[in-house]
Formats: sequence, structure tokens, C-alpha cells
Amino acid sequence: MKLEELGRAYHEKLDANRLPYLECDVCGHRFYYPRKLCPRCSSTSLQVRESDGRGKIFSLTRIQKKDGGKTTYGIVELDGFRIYCNILEKGKADLGKEVSMVFVELKGRKYPVAMVDA
Ligand SMILES: [Zn+2]
Repeated sequence: MKLEELGRAYHEKLDANRLPYLECDVCGHRFYYPRKLCPRCSSTSLQVRESDGRGKIFSLTRIQKKDGGKTTYGIVELDGFRIYCNILEKGKADLGKEVSMVFVELKGRKYPVAMVDA
């Protein structure tokens, strides 16, 4: 699949609130967001797949804002790939805690965000 086709298939899934990832036909490597080449073996034979959106927090960083609010970012491990994203703390975020991916719209584009299960 060409990069343009990968990007289109990727955004169609995001727009439908489904989490896409890419999988290499040659080595089976899975990764997030469209790239022209597999980052492991440089193959251009890639497919867009769909995750069930269930994962666990691999790492996190909390940023305390001057206004008293806070923002949490982190790396979430899903079905054999990782994603760097915002983490919404419905429950308290911690390493290994289960999350579900939800989607927020910003300037007409959907972005995945991890929601900590309560
Ligand atoms: Zn590969």
C-alpha cells in the first residue's frame, strides 16, 4: 500500500473512533502512525489494522500547571505496539493500569487519548 493510501485508511478509522496501527507484511512488526517504510526491516509492504483500543500504561508524566490543573502524558502499550498520547484520569493513572482509547476532535481531526478505567 502506498503512503497516501495508508494515510487515507488510517484517518478513516480514526474518524470512525477506531484506533488504527500499521503492520509489516514481511516481518510482522506493528507500529503506530503511517510511515513509508517499516521501521524494523524497511519494507514498503504495510497494512493498516485496527486495535481493540485496550491497553496498559507503559510510562507516564504528570505536568502540574500554574493554574492548579494537571496534564498527564504517557506511552500506552496496546496489541503489540505502543502509542504516545494524553492520558485522561477518570481513575488514577499508574504504570500497568488498564486504559481504553477514546477520541477527541481538535481542528477537525480526531486524536486518540487514553482514558484510565475507574
Ligand atoms: Zn518489517
